[in-house]
Amino acid sequence: PSAISKIAAGEVIERPASVVKELVENSIDSGADEINIIIKNAGITLIEVSDDGGGIDKEDLHLAITSHATSKITSDNINDIRFLGFRGEALASIVSSANVSIISKNSDSDLAWELDVNGKEEKEIRIFSCYREKKGTTVIVRDLFSLIPNKLRFLPSKNNEIATIIELINQFTLINNKIKFKLKIDDKIVINIHENTDISKRIEYVMGINFWNDALKIESHSKYLNISGYIINPTGCTNRGKIITFVNNRVVKDPKIYSSIKIAYNGLIEKKYTPSCVVFIETDSSNIDVNIHPHKTQVKFTNEILMKNDIINSIKNTLRRSSS
Ligand code: ADP
Ligand code: MG
Repeated sequence: PSAISKIAAGEVIERPASVVKELVENSIDSGADEINIIIKNAGITLIEVSDDGGGIDKEDLHLAITSHATSKITSDNINDIRFLGFRGEALASIVSSANVSIISKNSDSDLAWELDVNGKEEKEIRIFSCYREKKGTTVIVRDLFSLIPNKLRFLPSKNNEIATIIELINQFTLINNKIKFKLKIDDKIVINIHENTDISKRIEYVMGINFWNDALKIESHSKYLNISGYIINPTGCTNRGKIITFVNNRVVKDPKIYSSIKIAYNGLIEKKYTPSCVVFIETDSSNIDVNIHPHKTQVKFTNEILMKNDIINSIKNTLRRSSS
């Protein structure tokens, strides 16, 4: 790969979990009802993501791996966009860091098509028809970073990577209640949500609680933010200390949001319990910029003070209600 494609790869694809995130987001964007993920050797040897979504035309297969090519609507305000992906960068980056096969069938076609990209310096690209029963797409990523040995050396530990992937898929299940998810790691099924279920069932699954006993509803509305979600009773929870946050239905890991949640807990709950909660923040898209980081996991609020106050108040009020 050229120096430019290596730099682009480094930006979006930092580690195996980033590949999983991008592929699953593509599957969600494709309108899938069911997404299956297979991981081997912490994602280094294999990452496979299959969906039953709209699929990719034969004509578009090559475009899909081309940098800056996206089939998703471009908008003047990309924060408005309803798709998770919009840069057309992910598949291009993945292809420059690994051997990739994409197998896809769309609803208009009887044939399925496979695109293979292999090789080190000189990429060999082949497109051929193949068998696939149902419509949808499977992306298979093999030997990630074998082309960028430096990257392999600086990866987090395999256990850390696996934990991050599990957390990621758990988070996706909470904002995609209609999608069935299955995650298999080294031949073991780790997540299997095989029904279209509501948020309570998914929270039970993810947090390991009895929802009716151990989840306390958060609900607050201000001019700036609508906040909903659940505070989880830490004593009943196998996933103690987990804080999961979303902004406008995107998984967000923002230090400022985390610290606001922690401040709200201060003094209100026995110290030995670390906060556990799932928090959905909704705001007008003009109030945030999701575009500050290629991973789109951090957001910038136009008014951080309002954001912090709203979060702190909503959590505090919920905690107070529970203890009175
Ligand atoms: P983006 O998601 O930003 O558009 P990607 O590089 O992730 O960019 O994907 C490029 C294009 O490939 C997408 O715009 C889409 O048209 C197509 N694509 C990728 N994955 C899938 C999938 N699972 N199902 C259908 N189309 C897909
Ligand atoms: Mg994408």
